[in-house]
Amino acid sequence: MASVSVKSNLIGGEWRDSADGRENRNPSNVADVIGLYASGNAGMVDEAVAAAQAALPAWSTSTPQQRFDILDRAGTEVLARRDELGRLLSREEGKILAEGCGEVARAGQILKFMAGEALRNPGDVLPSVRPGVKVEVTREPVGVVGIITPWNFPIAIPAWKIAPALAYGNTVVFKPAELVPGSAWELVDILHRAGLPHGVLNLVMGKGRDVGQAILDHRGIDAVSFTGSVATGRTAVATVAARGGKVQAEMGGKNPLVVMDDANLDIAVEAAVNGAFYSTGQRCTASSRLIVTKGIHDRFLAAMRERVSALRVGDALAKDTQIGPVVDERQLAQDLRYVEIGKEDGGKAETGGEPVKHDNEGYFMQPVLFSGTTNDMRINREEVFGPVASIIRVGDYEEALATANDTEFGLCAGIATTSLKHAEHFKRHSRAGMVMVNLPTAGVDYHVPFGGAKGSSYGQREQGTYAKEFYTTVKTAYTA
Ligand code: NAD
Repeated sequence: MASVSVKSNLIGGEWRDSADGRENRNPSNVADVIGLYASGNAGMVDEAVAAAQAALPAWSTSTPQQRFDILDRAGTEVLARRDELGRLLSREEGKILAEGCGEVARAGQILKFMAGEALRNPGDVLPSVRPGVKVEVTREPVGVVGIITPWNFPIAIPAWKIAPALAYGNTVVFKPAELVPGSAWELVDILHRAGLPHGVLNLVMGKGRDVGQAILDHRGIDAVSFTGSVATGRTAVATVAARGGKVQAEMGGKNPLVVMDDANLDIAVEAAVNGAFYSTGQRCTASSRLIVTKGIHDRFLAAMRERVSALRVGDALAKDTQIGPVVDERQLAQDLRYVEIGKEDGGKAETGGEPVKHDNEGYFMQPVLFSGTTNDMRINREEVFGPVASIIRVGDYEEALATANDTEFGLCAGIATTSLKHAEHFKRHSRAGMVMVNLPTAGVDYHVPFGGAKGSSYGQREQGTYAKEFYTTVKTAYTA
């Protein structure tokens, strides 16, 4: 058998040879090995931090034009390779090809938007309260940024963290999720070849408890941007804050979609099916709680049962697949366990909830829709992160709003209604960082802030122009 080369880590501009690597397998077909990827360790994080520190003085004082050119060039290549990289992404993560290609396109757009942000970094000049003194307020890079990402958006999340970090003159040590190193590796390779000076962007793939923990602990890392589960996110916040570092964490969700009596039924069903089940429900913005007022409840349930039972589950790369596999065996076991918990707690599985047999061996499961659930059940309180959604029947708008807000999370919330009054009230009183009216809870723009309230997020918002709040620090200078 021909030997397969291991995709290696990038430290100080050098691809490090690695003898053995971790297998990256296709969740649609576990016999399909996508490649071998190096697994780093704490020692490599030390080296990567040293390289990032050495590169910082030149990069942080580089011209905005230099940073624009590199990010823009990288964005152009990502967009040009949309189909190829989309295929790789779907092969390693399991979202369907259209979604994989869409995510790659989004990463390209983010790189281009952030290229422009390098040029748009204004400050303030003010007269001082003291005569003859000028005051300048400028934004400067934070320093070396550690970036830790989850598996469910293998290229978009790395892009929306790395691009602003670089645009504002920071240097980076990046650790992608173990399950999806392929897309992350390609993104780093593209940025490297686009002309980044050595050490500006360092890639250390590997385990969370080794490489990730070393990034959190490292005093040479000035700021950490983390996206992932609540448990790891809280550790990240506590660890980085305790050593005086800057930290932001995007974590879980238990997002509600309220469906009002006056909703357009087709729009509501479309928003619910998309928001709850597309990308196999593996989106932090997925609407797993469908809160439905009593007048439309039975019609909504009937329409949803029909739509959800007809969803075609299969190989992420096959043309007619609507729902790809769950990402791995552990996640599938967790999803199926929550189906049992939902039933034990008194929910009725209207359709789905069982593993799906397929020609390939993969992690397939039929999306499940529960009815007759209450907001205190575990399936409505804990993040499942799979194709599992439940309907909660409520009396009126006030009860719907209270139920929507009755959660420890607050990433995203939606409402389907034709009432301007309810839409406006919901936008104002929903305790979520993002609110959708007559749209799925999942699916956001890249040029506006992203982030949540309560237990879903910690620290400054990501994306859009607001990303500078995290990736820069403010300096006030006085001149006589
Ligand atoms: P996870 O917390 O298991 O892992 C996230 C990252 O942290 C991975 O790179 C992992 O290797 C690393 N990690 C694990 N242990 C670590 C440690 N001790 N120290 C440092 N790093 C460590 O999450 P996941 O399973 O990859 O992703 C799914 C979760 O991500 C879900 O809870 C989902 O809601 C969340 N998510 C949130 C958002 C958001 O923006 N709010 C977006 C996408 C995903």
